[in-house]
Amino acid sequence: MAHLLSKYQLLDRNSVWHPYTKHSSASAGLPVIVRGAGPYLYDMDGHRYLDAVSSWWACSLGHGNARVVEAIRKQAGMLQHSILGNLSHPCAVELASKIVTLFTGGPRHVLFASDGSSAVEAALKIALQYWHNIGRSERCKFASLRDAYHGDTLGAVSVGYLPEFHKPFKRSLFEVFQADSPCCASCHLASNTKTCSVECFDSMQSIITQHRRELAAVIVEPLCQGAAGMRIYSPKYLRKLAALCRKHDILLIADEIAVGMGRTGRMFAFQHAGIDPDIVCIGKALSAGYLPISATIVKKAIHDTFSDLPVDNTFYHGHTFSGNPIACAAAIETLAVYEKENIVENAARLGETLADEMNQLTGLPGVSGIRCLGMIGAFEAQNARQIRDRLLVHDRILIRPLGNTVYLMLPLTVTPDLIRTTVKALRKAIMATNAKACQP
Ligand code: PMP
Repeated sequence: MAHLLSKYQLLDRNSVWHPYTKHSSASAGLPVIVRGAGPYLYDMDGHRYLDAVSSWWACSLGHGNARVVEAIRKQAGMLQHSILGNLSHPCAVELASKIVTLFTGGPRHVLFASDGSSAVEAALKIALQYWHNIGRSERCKFASLRDAYHGDTLGAVSVGYLPEFHKPFKRSLFEVFQADSPCCASCHLASNTKTCSVECFDSMQSIITQHRRELAAVIVEPLCQGAAGMRIYSPKYLRKLAALCRKHDILLIADEIAVGMGRTGRMFAFQHAGIDPDIVCIGKALSAGYLPISATIVKKAIHDTFSDLPVDNTFYHGHTFSGNPIACAAAIETLAVYEKENIVENAARLGETLADEMNQLTGLPGVSGIRCLGMIGAFEAQNARQIRDRLLVHDRILIRPLGNTVYLMLPLTVTPDLIRTTVKALRKAIMATNAKACQP
């Protein structure tokens, strides 16, 4: 039904270019969000929405966390920005030294940026320059997974090509060896974890074996290819990949931008596999979605090759806001809240509730491939868009299906009861949209 657009909606339509938004839906008038509190967002008309995707998977602590807000306020009054080029500041030092303690397996260095794509670009360039630094420039290629997503800048798109998003850029991308994408939910062999011998790794194995002399690095989203449709795969795959990379001296880059920071019930998803990637990218929930900050975390042995003596191997790469003090302060406080409130352990427990509830959707009409990993729950639905529309209008729950994949990525601070009521609303939406679809 047509409705009058508010002043803001009209101005919005005339001036804002919305990311990942079809012009047709933008012109219909979008909710204008003015406030957040806990797991909820509020629009200009006072409507409350459940943020069931944690605002693009970033707001792991929900909205309006008093501690993080206060840390930002305090830092903004002290020092809003000072560059990390030939200078330092306490926030960057404190955050980097905290981040490296989250890793076992030896010392690391942290390069900051502001968004996930930039963290991935840095990881790719570090891998390339590392091989250059040690006189092995022939190692200049990458392997990744088909249907991977690593961001929207051109390097990230080259390693994470999704045709529905990136087709117009195809001719301008660099060549990447893409292995078949593993996904337990659509694999008949994975239903029995005892008999699964990770046949899905064969494709990656042959790529690595064939190109081992030219590969600089392999990059993956550990355990879950998010934007591809929450394609969840086994830690066994990661273990095989890490072992093969080690055998052939190929760097392994873990893109933890979506799955890191407790989302899967461990601080980092790769920890489920007990592996030790050479380069790790984090972003999104690093500041619990308060300010844009990301990080590329690199093993010391790689970092040390970037010295300027006897030859200049300096990494001439960086962004104006790399390690912005206010963003760092938000991330430091986020990590402190994580520790104090046991966010990661809670996420693992909440994930069990989520899995119990999601599994009860089994057998509903049009629903298949139910899968969960920590606080990620997903399934395929014939009526994904109608389910989204119904949840928005009827229950004021915000979801953003990826094609036919409906998924929940609630903040990690929700109650088990909120998980239950959300999945109940999902059940009703599935039933209602199916009933509608069946009407003559
Ligand atoms: N890598 C992964 C796995 C992601 O999910 C995303 C964003 N969804 C990115 C990289 C890019 O992050 P950003 O949008 O902050 O550039």
